[in-house]
Amino acid sequence: MKVLKITKEDLAKGLDTLNKSFRLIGPVKDKDEEFHNFEELGQGELPDFNFRNTRLSPKSIVYPQSEKMFEYTLDSNDPEHDILIEVKKEPSPQVVVGIRPCDAKAFSLVKLNFDTPEYKDPYWLRRFEATTLLGLACHNPCSSCFCASAGSGPFNTESLDMLLVEEQGGYLAQVLTKKGEELAHTAGWTDEAGSDAQKQIDTMKEAAEKRIKSQISTDNLKNKLDMEIYEEPYWEDVSFSCINCGTCTYLCPTCWCFDVQDETCGNCGIRMRNWDSCMYPLFSLHGSGHNPRGEKLHRVRQRFMHKLKYYVDKYDSGIQCVGCGRCVNHCPVNIDIRRVCELMNRSEVCPVTTE
Ligand code: SF4
Ligand code: SF4
Repeated sequence: MKVLKITKEDLAKGLDTLNKSFRLIGPVKDKDEEFHNFEELGQGELPDFNFRNTRLSPKSIVYPQSEKMFEYTLDSNDPEHDILIEVKKEPSPQVVVGIRPCDAKAFSLVKLNFDTPEYKDPYWLRRFEATTLLGLACHNPCSSCFCASAGSGPFNTESLDMLLVEEQGGYLAQVLTKKGEELAHTAGWTDEAGSDAQKQIDTMKEAAEKRIKSQISTDNLKNKLDMEIYEEPYWEDVSFSCINCGTCTYLCPTCWCFDVQDETCGNCGIRMRNWDSCMYPLFSLHGSGHNPRGEKLHRVRQRFMHKLKYYVDKYDSGIQCVGCGRCVNHCPVNIDIRRVCELMNRSEVCPVTTE
């Protein structure tokens, strides 16, 4: 694997060049100066790398919160009335600069669902293919990060095209894919790092992994029966304080649920797809009025069963969580997936504590 050396000045110069031919997206502080989020960068605007993790995950860059799929007319005089016409979309090439390894890995978990032999989601896939991921290794993980035990890690390269590792005065950059090579070429980053660069990266990686104190255990999840976990008494306690606000699912880089809705105005109609959340009662309400997940307990259990059991069984590719810690940090009632995972993974049945 090629490792480049990029000074801070060359990074800025290269990004400026890239901004002429790509939609460039990077972390910037929001207008209240409280959190960082991913935004499109204007010409000459640089990403702000002084962040640990963004409040919102970057999933909307590939999978927008709302998108138009079809248009139609209800005008009965129009020969095409009631015919759904696909809204053509050719996503422009885009580069996400400074994406954390956990958020990049999340795209590969979601891809397992949106790119299957039986079904390919054209909207998600076209945008993902048009996207180049230029990652930023994480030297100082937050106290709520548990990526290293969730199948990812602060220097994980899965889904990334290049990974920037900050060092004195600049970056070492691992070029990981053909897309990454093309990006480096377009940006003018050509200086190869010395022969010990990979060793330097490995040392920094090890140090960063040691800084992650938070972890989960997942070794028993696959062997347990669905019903064994499903019928555990602890769900009452786990779900007790949940207010079904949906924050955990909206912030999560690996949650993909959506709803398809028709909106009409006069004779014009559009069919939209919008993010949805399994934490909302309407999400599973049947047309008959029956709701298989009518109780809060059912919905909270569904979220954790999906991420930590059904996904594990279906794809045999680990849990549907990259350990970014967003749901831990932002749940208004402190429901913590790390604690729930420990409960689900434990091999013996023991009484639940709530502290
Ligand atoms: S963020 Fe917390 S309170 Fe809100 S739906 Fe998720 S678990 Fe429930
Ligand atoms: S479940 Fe929570 S910790 Fe895991 S990826 Fe989603 S937001 Fe991050």
